[in-house]
Amino acid sequence: MTSKRDYYEILSVSRSATEIEIKKAYRILAKKYHPDLNPNDAEAETNFKEASEAYEVLKDPQKRSTYDRFGHQGLENQGFHGFSNMEDVFSSFGDIFESFFGFGRSQPRSGPQAGADIESQTTITLVEAANGVKKQIQIEVSKDCHVCEGLGHEKGYTPETCSMCQGYGQVQQNRGFISIATPCPQCRGQGQINKKPCKTCKGSTREIAKEKIDVDIPKGVESGMHVRISHKGHFGSKGGPQGDLYVQVLIEEHPHLIRRKEHIFSFAKIGIAQASLGSKVMVETLEGSKSIEIPRGSQNGDQVVLQNEGMPILGSNRKGNHYVEVKVLVPKRLSTKQEELMREFATESGEKVIEPSSSFLDKCKKKK
Ligand SMILES: [Zn+2]
Ligand SMILES: [Zn+2]
Repeated sequence: MTSKRDYYEILSVSRSATEIEIKKAYRILAKKYHPDLNPNDAEAETNFKEASEAYEVLKDPQKRSTYDRFGHQGLENQGFHGFSNMEDVFSSFGDIFESFFGFGRSQPRSGPQAGADIESQTTITLVEAANGVKKQIQIEVSKDCHVCEGLGHEKGYTPETCSMCQGYGQVQQNRGFISIATPCPQCRGQGQINKKPCKTCKGSTREIAKEKIDVDIPKGVESGMHVRISHKGHFGSKGGPQGDLYVQVLIEEHPHLIRRKEHIFSFAKIGIAQASLGSKVMVETLEGSKSIEIPRGSQNGDQVVLQNEGMPILGSNRKGNHYVEVKVLVPKRLSTKQEELMREFATESGEKVIEPSSSFLDKCKKKK
């Protein structure tokens, strides 16, 4: 036989109590026996667990009806065993405490906490983006103070629990009908009073360290993308895991090459003779200067395609293309000899040239 107390008795409610009455009763007991308000008090802990178990059963119509008819044994036959420890209570009731008190379980002296992520940036050239590159960046990492090992106080000393907030780090303030949790003014939200702060970190428990990190930037990266490096963020506290490092990669504009996704665009400026006769010309590519062939009779705006000479596609072995657009430059000034040749060329090709009169040119100049 079980020696468990009656659930109605624990919550001090009648057997016909409504759901609201039961919740109200539990709220009072949960606050009274909350472990954060009763540190190292085994009796409070037992009472807290007991009240939580009673509430767990009576708030649930099915469990309550089983209990009403068959008692503790009935519930046990259905596999209900209550809470084995405090963590059980908090994992199933955390949200309820949130609504009761405005916080779940405060953690002024709680266990390990994960470190925060770090965001950083680095700038690379387009050519580096095309080939992939290793960049070294410097970051500032927060970690536990190496002198006090993250305690914030001298070794051998134990800070006192704050008398104003009883270690919560928060106090309730009544504003009209609502109660708001604010950081405790006496301990500034720490839950404890530290009379012998560590001289190195001045009680902050943390220190900032500069670290150099090598970042592998994959080929084909696009400007604005992030490279994630696991466990290179801020250190956790009290042995908690390190956060991650996110490095945003920015790509500088190239003076000659324009990137659109995996393709590269550029211009080849050529003269009318080169366009007419075709010519080899030097152009800038991702792999440096390169000679390409402009076909005979190329028009302004024609494209020469350099297959598979664009950007690598991230995570694959394929590449885009490099499109070189032909820009035919018409000479703005001609030497006497060039003029003669040009007129001869026009006559030869049957091109009728009626040159504007000089007086017309003068008028144009005056308008400007
Ligand atoms: Zn306090
Ligand atoms: Zn320290």
